[in-house]
Amino acid sequence: MSFSAEQLKNDFPILTQIVNDEPLVYLDNAATTQKPTAVLAALETYYREANANVHRGVHTLAERATTQYEAAREKVQHFIHANESSEVLFTRGTTTSLNWVAKSYGEANVTSGDEILISVMEHHSNLIPWQQLAKKTGAALKYIELTEEGLLDMESFHAQLSEKTKIVALAHVSNVLGVINPIQEIARLIHARGAVLVVDGAQAVPHMPVDVQELDADFYAFSGHKMVGPTGIGVLYGKRSLLEQMEPVEFGGEMIAMVNDQDSTWKELPWKFEAGTPNIAGAIGLGAAIDYLSTVGLSAIHEHEKALMAYLWPKLTAIPRLTIYGPKDTAKRTGIVTFNLDGLHPHDVATAMDMEGVAIRAGHHCAQPLMRRLSADSTARASFYLYNTTADVDKFIEALLATKEFFAHGLN
Ligand code: PMP
Repeated sequence: MSFSAEQLKNDFPILTQIVNDEPLVYLDNAATTQKPTAVLAALETYYREANANVHRGVHTLAERATTQYEAAREKVQHFIHANESSEVLFTRGTTTSLNWVAKSYGEANVTSGDEILISVMEHHSNLIPWQQLAKKTGAALKYIELTEEGLLDMESFHAQLSEKTKIVALAHVSNVLGVINPIQEIARLIHARGAVLVVDGAQAVPHMPVDVQELDADFYAFSGHKMVGPTGIGVLYGKRSLLEQMEPVEFGGEMIAMVNDQDSTWKELPWKFEAGTPNIAGAIGLGAAIDYLSTVGLSAIHEHEKALMAYLWPKLTAIPRLTIYGPKDTAKRTGIVTFNLDGLHPHDVATAMDMEGVAIRAGHHCAQPLMRRLSADSTARASFYLYNTTADVDKFIEALLATKEFFAHGLN
């Protein structure tokens, strides 16, 4: 199918809104994405026609719900090129997925004197679980620094990697800098040292083709809501050999084989990890999101975002007293741009932009160690997606200039 962001926008009913008397321009896609009619319809159809609890029932609705839930797992498997669907665990989102790895794999395999290696650009979701693991086990938490340009510093990586490194946990794409990290190369280097690689794919899976086997990631986490799917559903991919030796993190119904008075046994993969009634509608909605994104094409989405950034860049860099964080080369980024206007608080910038109907985010973006390295308390961030057009870019620039003008007068 030929790519037209203008046409795709029509699939997203929320985007036709007027906000503060202006047509909405939604540029907060790194926080969460909007949902196409196909996903909304899948959720409604599920509740109207198939709603029942999964796995336990023999009645028609229970079988229907189970079939649809497990079909969604297979869609995820094919989407990320996992070897088998039992390597796909449904979770609440990236945060839960990463916590599960730290808790289950981490606590069983990391001890005092070991090292965990992450980067300074991690989202708190891929930072605090490792901090907690380090505290609990007595392991050391080490950080890969950034280059001047704002890329992962491979010299720093080599300097920190050692025989003591047990886990390396990295973002595939930074939610602040938009940079794509060399996951495949890192996997090769750390596997030679016997460490496992945990990848936070929250900002990658929605925006580019991802093949977990080609990357050779041991674990890979992402969220449905950042890829036009529902909130409350996410994925933890893990290699079978690792998931098999791991203990579940949660216990209860749905995950057991046999419960005796004093001990119990677990179901096989993937169900041993999915205690309690899962987010059935969420998983089915995620399946519909995957169908939608696959029809558009992930390569086409990636190319579209790069083209938008190339269109945006000369306009943005022409604005005086505007600092852009991260690489200046748009080819090294996805559709995320983080910036500050000299002398203006990013919250004021985002509030003024909202008055123009442009939704951007301001804050520390759950990346405080990165903010410290950027010498900023907070920043403004615009993040683009498949339904954003060059007209959205024009409106963004226009609103940014109006904001600058407004405060310049206000300050005089
Ligand atoms: N990692 C990254 C890189 C993210 O951008 C986010 C979401 N902002 C998360 C992790 C956490 O995702 P969730 O809140 O969906 O668990």
